[in-house]
Amino acid sequence: MPAMWRTDRWPALVSGTGCPICIRGVPNDLLLDVGVAWVTAQPEAPLPGYVCLVAKRHVVELFDLQPSEGQALWNALTRVARGVQAATGAIKLNYEIHGNTVPHLHVHVYPRFAGDPFEGRAIDASAATPFSRSTDDLAVLRAAVLEAMADPAAAS
Ligand SMILES: [Zn+2]
Repeated sequence: MPAMWRTDRWPALVSGTGCPICIRGVPNDLLLDVGVAWVTAQPEAPLPGYVCLVAKRHVVELFDLQPSEGQALWNALTRVARGVQAATGAIKLNYEIHGNTVPHLHVHVYPRFAGDPFEGRAIDASAATPFSRSTDDLAVLRAAVLEAMADPAAAS
């Protein structure tokens, strides 16, 4: 059990009053605003091309979303993932939803590669030696996600 769950901070994190994303108004390392969510990408990441899709509205669980919000988030995730795949040439994408540290709904998007540090197993981001990404790397990633967001063929 994460230590965070045992602290007095957990109820405020869940309600949003103590949520660092909500307090700040926007998540750290913002790459792109995709309407229903933000896409973040920090300079150091567990895998090249890693991004995180962060819901704009503070909800903890998927079932806290209104159906239209859930559909919009899913559509955004689909397009963001397509952009990450295009930017990285990943052979597979992995998606993870946890919220055990910051319970503001977010989806980790991990591009996977032959020979990546987690080949043949699940990603353990806490054990990873991070990959450094330059400003140019992040610009390429942003451009690919933007292109995927605008692709009418990806519309549902
Ligand atoms: Zn929040």
